Amino acid sequence: AMATAGLAACGSGDDSSSKGGASTGAAKIKGKVGIILPDTKSSVRWESFDRPVLTAAFQKAGIPADIQNAEGDKQRMQTIADQMITNGATILAIVNLDSNSGAAIEAKAKQQGVQTIDYDRLTLGGSADYYVSFDGTEVGRTQGAGLQKCLGDKASNIVYLDGSPTDNNATLFKQGAHEVLDKVTNYKKVAEQAVPDWDNQKAATIFEQIYTQQKGKIDGVLAANDGLGQAAISILKKNNDKIPVTGQDATPQGLQNILDGTQCMTVYKPNKQEADSLVSVVTALAKGQKPQATATANDPVGKRNVPSILLKPISITKDNVKDVITDGGVKAADVCKGAY
Ligand code: BGC
Repeated sequence: AMATAGLAACGSGDDSSSKGGASTGAAKIKGKVGIILPDTKSSVRWESFDRPVLTAAFQKAGIPADIQNAEGDKQRMQTIADQMITNGATILAIVNLDSNSGAAIEAKAKQQGVQTIDYDRLTLGGSADYYVSFDGTEVGRTQGAGLQKCLGDKASNIVYLDGSPTDNNATLFKQGAHEVLDKVTNYKKVAEQAVPDWDNQKAATIFEQIYTQQKGKIDGVLAANDGLGQAAISILKKNNDKIPVTGQDATPQGLQNILDGTQCMTVYKPNKQEADSLVSVVTALAKGQKPQATATANDPVGKRNVPSILLKPISITKDNVKDVITDGGVKAADVCKGAY
């Protein structure tokens, strides 16, 4: 079945990724938007997926957008924000590196009359006017359900490799995963560790220590994203071991792992939908209108509910890898390298 699924994903050479349409010649709006991505190491998504779809989506909407990357440096993110505002940004969207630094950026922007939006990660104690993301708890539930499907209900020792302890999303992912997996009486959590800054190298070190401690008696790994999953898989390979490992982001590496059977599943969060949602919020703000929020996100630190758009994540296993390609999430050529 796996080989067939692999061929279904990679055999046709079909790469019908959705091309960004021509500019719609949207009504003139005031101002510019600045968007700050967090880093290049916690996931390939920010530069490989988010930047191109954000660029295309704002171009199409006719809204000038300055997109920069803080390279994992909180001070640098503040400096970029200051420069964007000096250069005329009237709306600022950030993917915070932690809530404290994010909140400081938002407070300073607000003082200068700049509206702010949390993109993907909610800034706890922040002052963002809107939040655009996926339903984080649902992402975690999707990972938990995916792992359960791969393990079956047989007695299993599970290791949890959680995302960065300073990323509110990581908290939600973890909650959602536990909600599902803690219900299965045959499953036992043997170790759980958060990976600082989602650092893949640290994840490999952490996982190797756990693997040694547990003498290899691990049956499944709940890894919070594809990078952390790949870290676990590299250690498993070193030990000639192969067990179900989860992921997130539908990266080329994660999808390749799924096709060759080393990864159980990933979570696809169509980046174009997230970019389009940001465009809709920015467009309304720029026109002085009220953006269409469809949900609220609770900020337990700021004790407030932030008007939000929370999109629905999609579970990807060997049976539907092709869906990510046909949706334009990745190019077939990037997934189907080598064996396929
Ligand atoms: C995002 C994930 C990403 C992770 C590491 C999270 O906040 O939601 O998609 O894998 O950060 O960058």
